[in-house]
Amino acid sequence: MNIIVCIKQVPASQKVDIDPINGTLKRAGTETKLNPYDLFAIETAVKLKEEYGGTLTAITMGPPQAENALLEACYLGCDRGFLITDKAFGGADVLATSYTIAQAIRTIGIPDIIITGKQTTDGDTAQVGAEISEWLTLPYFGNVRKIITIAKGKITASCSIDNLIYEYEASLPVLMAIDAEACTPRLPSFSRKKNLSFKIEKLTLCCLEDQNKSHYGLDGSPTQVRRIFPPSSDKNRRIIEGSSQECTDAFYSVLHSGKFI
Ligand code: FAD
Repeated sequence: MNIIVCIKQVPASQKVDIDPINGTLKRAGTETKLNPYDLFAIETAVKLKEEYGGTLTAITMGPPQAENALLEACYLGCDRGFLITDKAFGGADVLATSYTIAQAIRTIGIPDIIITGKQTTDGDTAQVGAEISEWLTLPYFGNVRKIITIAKGKITASCSIDNLIYEYEASLPVLMAIDAEACTPRLPSFSRKKNLSFKIEKLTLCCLEDQNKSHYGLDGSPTQVRRIFPPSSDKNRRIIEGSSQECTDAFYSVLHSGKFI
């Protein structure tokens, strides 16, 4: 069984710089980590590989330093890694990101299962997985909490949506976005760290089938993040003090004068 797991390197802290011109995160030079939600995707993929055999490939679109996320994925059990990186891909919104990743998967070869995390801790749109499946016209399983069976070319899984559980079945290949309740991620293997026998392969624009630059990066992004700022907290505050009856009367008059009651 061939599996591709999509992972993203995200800022390790909330303190990130935003490019004032195009509203994108300045990723170069910021302290980074593997997107925590993707640990569940990797664990699910490694478990499938252990049960069904085959090759497990980790891919990520990002700047050159995103190679570290691929190394971490390989310490966790992936067999090989592809870094999808090119200046032309920079500043991409979800549409352009998912298109670029779909193009890269076509170049690598569409596997039996593509696995993503539920969302990232930076952009946090939770849309990339679904949009990759659209570009590749594959069935999409969102919020997967358990893979039930894989047999005779079909897969069944249970997915949690709002407070209901849905059981879906589809023919392979499929794309699944894994929920955090699906598994408990393992720790990286020290022995794999020591005798690393794979290299990270790079995919740039010239490796992809569609060479039209306007489909990638900022040019291919209909969504431009205009600015990112913390909500203003200029609410006027009033401290009500006194006996419980006095506080109740004062609180009632605030609600009444504000027409809340
Ligand atoms: P999500 O959709 O949250 O990620 C889901 C899963 O997809 C991940 O767990 C991972 O498995 C996979 N994945 C995501 N990115 C990659 C990658 N680069 N390589 C491999 N796998 C990946 N874009 C918009 O279109 N609309 C917006 O409103 C928007 N708002 C943003 C706000 C902020 C603060 C930031 C930093 C970015 C925003 N973006 C937006 C840009 C968007 O974050 C990027 O396009 C990003 O590359 C993908 O979206 P995401 O991080 O939300 O991923």
